[in-house]
Amino acid sequence: MIGDFKRFDMVKKPKRQKRYLTPVTWAVSFPSKWARRAKIKKTGMAGIKPPYLLLCNHNSFLDFKIMTAAIFPHRANYVVAIDGFLHMEWLLRRVGAIGNRKFVNSTLLVKNMIHAKNNGDIVVMFPEARYSLCGTSAVLPNSVGKFIRLLGIPVVTLIMHGHHVQAPFWGEKGRGASHLESELRLLFTPEETKSLTVDEINTRLRAAFKYDDFAWQRDRQVKIPHTDRARGLHKVLYQCPECGAEYRMSSVRDELWCQVCGQRWNMSQYGELSAVNGVTRFSHIPDWYEWERENVRREIREGTYSLKVSAIVDSLPNTRGFKELGEAELCHNMDGFTLKGTYRGEPYEETWKPRSLYSCHIEYDYKHRRADCIDLNTATDTLYIYPQGRDFAVTKIALATEELYEFTGKPNLANAN
Ligand SMILES: [Zn+2]
Repeated sequence: MIGDFKRFDMVKKPKRQKRYLTPVTWAVSFPSKWARRAKIKKTGMAGIKPPYLLLCNHNSFLDFKIMTAAIFPHRANYVVAIDGFLHMEWLLRRVGAIGNRKFVNSTLLVKNMIHAKNNGDIVVMFPEARYSLCGTSAVLPNSVGKFIRLLGIPVVTLIMHGHHVQAPFWGEKGRGASHLESELRLLFTPEETKSLTVDEINTRLRAAFKYDDFAWQRDRQVKIPHTDRARGLHKVLYQCPECGAEYRMSSVRDELWCQVCGQRWNMSQYGELSAVNGVTRFSHIPDWYEWERENVRREIREGTYSLKVSAIVDSLPNTRGFKELGEAELCHNMDGFTLKGTYRGEPYEETWKPRSLYSCHIEYDYKHRRADCIDLNTATDTLYIYPQGRDFAVTKIALATEELYEFTGKPNLANAN
C-alpha cells in the first residue's frame, strides 16, 4: 500500500435508492432518450419484476440514461467504479451505487449485490467494466457466470446500439446520431441460473454481448453529420496499416493520417473509412483495431513485447480526490506490469502478473491531467499512470494486457475476476 491515506469503504452496505431521487433520475434520463429518438425493445420481459440482475453493455454516459428509461418505473442499485464517485460519494450512495475497483476480484462486491437483491431491487452491472474502445464487445470475465448462479434471480440484458457512434470513448462529445436502438431481454430464468453450468451460462452471456456499433451504424444508415467526427480516432487506431509505424497517427475533422508515410483516410457520415489515395485496407474501424491486436499477439508469441517508459502517477485511495505520487518507471512486458517509484522518500514497487489481469482500464485525455493513462488497481488503491513522451499508446497496452492473459494460459477459476 502506497501512502497512509484513508481507503474507500467497500464493506459499507449499499443503500436502497432514496424514493425522492428516483424521479430525479427520470428527469435526467428521459430528455436524452427523446432527443436521440432512442427505441427500447423488450423481449421476454412480460411478468419479470424486480429483483433481477441487469447486465448492460458499456459505451458512454448515455448508457445510464437509457438504462434508467428501460427499467422505468423501478429503482435500482448500480455497480460503479469508485472513480465515478469522485467528490460525490454522498450522492452516489443515496442514489444506490455499489462501489468497486475495476478488474479486481472482490467478494465484498458479491456480498453487496446479494444485499441489494434481498432488498427486492434491480441490480445493475456493466460487466465489461469499461467503455468499449471502438464500439465492439469487450472481454467478459468468467466470474460473471459464477455470481449469476449465486444470485439465482432472473438475468436481463440491455444491449444498446449507437451509443459508441454517438459519443465514442476516443472523443466523447455528442455527435448528433439520428437515432438509437436497444433491447431489454430476459436471458436466464431463475431456474436456468441453477440448472445450467457456469460454462453454459458464460457461453450464452458472451453470445448475447456480441455487438458492433459501426456495423450497426452502416447497416441502419445512421448519419453522423458532425464535422469533427474523426477527431480522436488515432487514439484507437495508433498503427498505420500502410507503413506499420506505431504512435504516429493523427486525426482532426473527418480525417485520419499517418505522420510517417503521409497516407490519409476520410471518415464518412456513416462511420466508414476510405483512403484518400490508393487502396483502402480497412474501411471498417473494428477491423483495423483487430489487425492491431493481431500484431500485438505476434509480439507476445515471439516473446518480444516490451515497453519501458517514465510515468507520472496519481493514486485514488478514496473518493476525495487524487494524491500525486510523482514520477515512476513503468515496465510492461512478458512478466506483466511493474511500477517502481518513490513516495515521500519511501521506494515502492507494484507488480501485476499477466494472469492476474484479463484486461485493464485506460483513459484517453483523462480529465485530471488531460493526458492518456492506464488505470491499475490493487485491492485498496487505484493508480492512474500517465506514460510520458510519445512512444507509447495506451490502446496497445490494453491489447497487450488481454493478449498476455490469453497467452499465459487458461484462466485459473479461483483467481479469475
Ligand atoms: Zn504510415
